[in-house]
Amino acid sequence: MKIVGRTVSDTLWSILREVESRCGEIQFHKQDPQGNYGSYQLKDGQHHIWVRTDSNLTSPQFEHIVAHEMMHAVQVEQNWPTAKAAQDYGDGSCEAKLVARGLQALGDEIISLGFARQLARELHSLVLDLDVEDRLKKLERSCRIVFDRTYQMEGRYQNLKRRLEPGSSLSPGSFNLEYERLALSYAQEMSSTSTRKASLQKLYLKHAPSVAEKGKELLRILGEKGWGNPEQALTSMIAIRDSLGLAKTCIIVNPRSESGSWG
Ligand SMILES: [Zn+2]
Repeated sequence: MKIVGRTVSDTLWSILREVESRCGEIQFHKQDPQGNYGSYQLKDGQHHIWVRTDSNLTSPQFEHIVAHEMMHAVQVEQNWPTAKAAQDYGDGSCEAKLVARGLQALGDEIISLGFARQLARELHSLVLDLDVEDRLKKLERSCRIVFDRTYQMEGRYQNLKRRLEPGSSLSPGSFNLEYERLALSYAQEMSSTSTRKASLQKLYLKHAPSVAEKGKELLRILGEKGWGNPEQALTSMIAIRDSLGLAKTCIIVNPRSESGSWG
């Protein structure tokens, strides 16, 4: 059995069948080489997953990427909250009106849409990946499958190492949202099982100590509000976003409320 041209184990295949029985068919795509290791998107009501197929990826690494993204599809079916760039909401919607007011209040400091989308994705993954990885650990125990997370973690480490180079001036609310995104990454790495935690902490303290402080604050929020069910994840996402001062840049959509309301 193959996914995007790669042979996968019978166990992963049966996990896929189980997920599809709950979520409907999943479309798999080969990812652009510049893209991340994997990404998930719900488009026109269909679940799409993009995965890297580099030949140096081992099977346990490839299967981790596929399974990780599949768990995001399950979260969507279970109506977990999601973070979106506020500007992505159409004219006339109540979200758009809120954003229009927000942008007026911000004056010239309109944040680039691309960076706002990136930040929304990173906030989404900080909170929702904790549940995704919990689900994968349960699958490892119940289905006797082994996932290898090193590819994803090493990729994230190398990326952060580059961005934390000396001389980068970081301040809250800048055009590229680098301060906020690095604070989200700090919280994500410190709450993960990455073996690079200690070296990353050193890098942050050396090059961006105020970002590390903000990252610790985000971790405290996660610990206080929780992330283990959709309600807790919603509360955490809103509180983290507000702690970063980005209520006008990023909205949190709650599909569980009748109107699919936002916070
Ligand atoms: Zn994820």
